Amino acid sequence: MTTVSGWGRFPVVESEMLRPRSFEAVAGAVVAGSVARGNGRAYGDAAIGAARTIAMTGFDRVRWFDPATGRIRVEAGVLLSDLIDTFGPRGFLPSVVPGTRFVSVGGAIAADVHGKNHHCEGGFGRYVDSILLRSGAGETIEVSREQNSDAFFATTGGMGLTGVILEATVRLRRVETGWIRERVISASDLDAAMRALEAGNSATYSVAWIDCVARGSELGRSLIYLGEHARADELAQGADRFPVGKDPGLAVPVDLPSMTLNRYSIRAFNELYYRMGARRAGGEHVVSLYPYFFPLDSIADWNRIYGRRGFLQHQCVIPEVRAREVLGEILGRVSKRGDASFLAVLKKLGHGDGLLSFPLPGYTLALDFPVKGDILNFLDEIDRLVVAAGGRLYLAKDARQSRATFAAGYPALSRFNAIRKALDPAGNIRSRLSQRLFDEV
Ligand SMILES: Cc1cc2nc3c(=O)[nH]c(=O)nc-3n(C[C@H](O)[C@H](O)[C@H](O)COP(=O)(O)OP(=O)(O)OC[C@H]3O[C@@H](n4cnc5c(N)ncnc54)[C@H](O)[C@@H]3O)c2cc1C
Repeated sequence: MTTVSGWGRFPVVESEMLRPRSFEAVAGAVVAGSVARGNGRAYGDAAIGAARTIAMTGFDRVRWFDPATGRIRVEAGVLLSDLIDTFGPRGFLPSVVPGTRFVSVGGAIAADVHGKNHHCEGGFGRYVDSILLRSGAGETIEVSREQNSDAFFATTGGMGLTGVILEATVRLRRVETGWIRERVISASDLDAAMRALEAGNSATYSVAWIDCVARGSELGRSLIYLGEHARADELAQGADRFPVGKDPGLAVPVDLPSMTLNRYSIRAFNELYYRMGARRAGGEHVVSLYPYFFPLDSIADWNRIYGRRGFLQHQCVIPEVRAREVLGEILGRVSKRGDASFLAVLKKLGHGDGLLSFPLPGYTLALDFPVKGDILNFLDEIDRLVVAAGGRLYLAKDARQSRATFAAGYPALSRFNAIRKALDPAGNIRSRLSQRLFDEV
């Protein structure tokens, strides 16, 4: 048995960890109480098997690549960072990237991850043509929009619960450079931030960083980052077309004491961050794709900042019509507490593609909280606001929502369950997350 957790380091549980080296060995590992694990970047308990966890990062081969179309066939353990480093200099990038590049293709499909372009270009699943799946019933099947389409739409965003993704064919995006033309907008409050995101709807990439300790008339003050892929003729003279992605430089060497992050340190950090960002507001700058898409990747093991007990990320999406009112209420409650993260993120989302995909047209807000005190009760309160507004929580970030919250947010759940049952009648595939939220007890 091994001690295992997600990126948030909560919960920490025991699981048998299997590291198969062949697809035959994966087949043997898909037995009662197992689930696949990619690079462990889901925050909570999604990538932990009820009894055993099947580590897939050893499957890291590219099967083929077609430079005429950007289509690529990869094993599920290939990381997006590998795709960027290998195919970026050839003019291709993943069509969707989340806030860290250290996720596997299998994990990106299973969570149907969204990037800063979701409002206009959809999630990772939209660029997946087909998937080779090892089902819980012991069959190896190719699934796509045309073939076994039920299984395809249940696997995209299905959090590993339909089976183990062995390989996938995905479409990369053609780019001229690895640079982003960025425009920073400073917004003095939540209304201004939402107006700026609305106005930035036509930008390929958009995201807002919210200072969630700001209060009163400054509640929701933000920096909005819009972005477009830079053309070669927009680069500074002599600049490489493709910047080199550096390995994380700084590392957090130990678990910081939980008192390091308190309302004073967070307030000071946020003030500094907002002022520095506001100074860059207005004009356009050409920046490397790495800090633009993956600002946190430059600090290794940053999850240790929250201390030994770990942290929770609460990521909700609120349908457009109720978004202003409910986000204002959530931010008001959070700023009163003062112990939320320095990294609150606000973004517009469009339609999700998979049956359990998180996105719906509206605004998503992501907040980090250290695990301490009454945080679980506080988040239950926030959940009630989300559910009443017709919203939902992101499974890839979740470690604690209730069954009722989950069921209320995902209307396609019973259809998903029926497809899962057909693919795995004996219920072999089970994660800690599925035990908590899906499985019959
Ligand atoms: C700093 C940071 C920023 C992030 N930003 C974003 C963001 O902007 N947008 C976003 O959508 N997400 C974001 N995430 C979450 C992350 O993208 C997802 O959790 C993603 O699923 C992690 O991929 P992974 O390879 O680490 O998978 P894991 O965390 O190991 O697993 C995640 C899920 O995928 C399943 N899975 C993994 N591999 C397979 C496989 N081969 N077959 C079947 N199922 C599999 C697991 O069972 C589990 O349910 C962020 C995470 C971090 C740490």
